[in-house]
Amino acid sequence: MFPASFDYLPVRSVDEALAALAEHGTDARILAGGQSLIPAMRFRLARPAVLVDINPIAELAYLREADGALLIGAGTRDVAIERSATVAAGYRLVSDVAAVVADPVVRQSGTVVGGLCHNDPAGDWGVAALAGRAQIVVRGKAGTRTVSIDDFLVDSYTTAVADGELALEVRFPTPGQRTSGSYQKIERKVGDFATAAAAVQLTLGPDGTIVDAGVAIGAAGPKATRVVMAERLLIGSRPTTELLQSAAAEAEKISDPVADTRGDVDFKRAMARVLVQRALIATLERLHVGELR
Ligand SMILES: Cc1cc2nc3c(=O)[nH]c(=O)nc-3n(C[C@H](O)[C@H](O)[C@H](O)COP(=O)(O)OP(=O)(O)OC[C@H]3O[C@@H](n4cnc5c(N)ncnc54)[C@H](O)[C@@H]3O)c2cc1C
Repeated sequence: MFPASFDYLPVRSVDEALAALAEHGTDARILAGGQSLIPAMRFRLARPAVLVDINPIAELAYLREADGALLIGAGTRDVAIERSATVAAGYRLVSDVAAVVADPVVRQSGTVVGGLCHNDPAGDWGVAALAGRAQIVVRGKAGTRTVSIDDFLVDSYTTAVADGELALEVRFPTPGQRTSGSYQKIERKVGDFATAAAAVQLTLGPDGTIVDAGVAIGAAGPKATRVVMAERLLIGSRPTTELLQSAAAEAEKISDPVADTRGDVDFKRAMARVLVQRALIATLERLHVGELR
């Protein structure tokens, strides 16, 4: 199906984008990679009267480390993250996700920030952003604000980006030497959204105690979900097989998926547990923790 008719407005600067958003109000939508918005328009699930295309804003396409974080601009494609040596070396959780979002063709166009703004309940980036304690920089006419990912992901397809605002950047704090993570996803075939997904990031203290933990699950509710009880169990404990099982069980308890062609509710809830456990084990292996008691 063809989209309903719309005006196309390419912009060359953030100021121009904000002016266009201010002028057209709720009639306008930002166009980034177009990999979610254009299909939604073709199915008439979205009918923006004006598309504000931010692709010509060259200054938004960056991926760099600064101020203790990996900064990913709103123009940065998934493929740039997938191919980045900096990400591969220092951001294992981010690197894992970049390799499994959609398929290689979609990753050529899709952006991380667009994925977060779309906030699909089965999207990958929100899950990793929760575990990695990411922040999003948002700018509007009133100024620039930094929003924690927990506050950013409001509900299915709804974020903290208000009318007239543009998400500029996502920031993943740089993991220290004793921090690592893992992203685990089950999909029916390459390019599919997750049947279930889990992200973990752990920091170990000098004696091997877990001093920080981020645990999140996806395709398990209206939006990516932090498994708070798992984090509480892990922090302050030394990793053991029993601890990992108990933490993973917390994911199954709070998982609230919908039944669809990818699986029934019981299967998806069980997979939330299995994937959290796999992500915990993979993370500890990356931290060179030996065999667990
Ligand atoms: C075949 C296929 C398979 C896919 N599989 C997966 C998958 O497995 N996992 C997954 O996570 N995703 C998947 N996707 C979605 C894909 O990753 C999209 O690229 C992503 O969801 C949106 O990024 P985008 O840059 O294309 O955003 P767009 O489609 O351009 O925009 C999406 C939404 O975010 C808004 N938006 C975008 N950027 C900004 C901004 N800077 N500020 C404010 N609002 C903004 C837009 O207005 C729109 O509402 C798939 C898509 C396709 C077509």
